[in-house]
Amino acid sequence: HSEDDKSEDYLFKIVLIGDSAVGKSNLLARFARDEFYPNSKSTIGVEFQTQKMDINGKEIKAQIWDTAGQERFRAVTSAYYRGAVGALLVYDISRQQTFQSIGRWLNELHTHSDMNVVTILVGNKSDLKDIREVPTSEGKALAEAQGLFFMETSALDSSNVAAAFETVVKEIYNILS
Ligand code: GDP
Ligand code: MG
Repeated sequence: HSEDDKSEDYLFKIVLIGDSAVGKSNLLARFARDEFYPNSKSTIGVEFQTQKMDINGKEIKAQIWDTAGQERFRAVTSAYYRGAVGALLVYDISRQQTFQSIGRWLNELHTHSDMNVVTILVGNKSDLKDIREVPTSEGKALAEAQGLFFMETSALDSSNVAAAFETVVKEIYNILS
């Protein structure tokens, strides 16, 4: 590959959504910087972070948006969703409540963005096996019913974090190419 091949520009906006404290900011911190914050506050949230990825030899920039904690007040604005082509819809496998909220987040996503936004349902904190409240089968079933990709992740032990982001980016790339 010459430099010219690599200069072709792909920039995909991807949004992180889901209830407060499910681990959205830590998924991004793990993916983009390989960092984890055991006691993170909403202040660690950046507006967005751009991550270069290599998909089929093409350089793709994923512009990943994180909330600054406004989801706590159900005040995620339409500007947050505008132009998004991908979404990670995150719940916490140790808190049933956060799984119950998924329907509402899905409605909000579809209200503010294209119906075709590539979405993965993410059950985060898979390391918390001993206090699991949402069985893997339930997450999988909801994803199938709604036509979403599905993965369980852990921002703490890194499992499936890169895979979850890559699933979304690869699918967007496949649709566009
Ligand atoms: P956000 O509000 O959705 O952005 O959630 P944060 O990323 O701020 O995480 C909320 C809390 O959950 C923090 O104390 C994190 O350290 C913790 N946390 C995030 N991801 C994981 C994970 O995969 N496993 C465990 N055990 N804790 C996590
Ligand atoms: Mg956050």
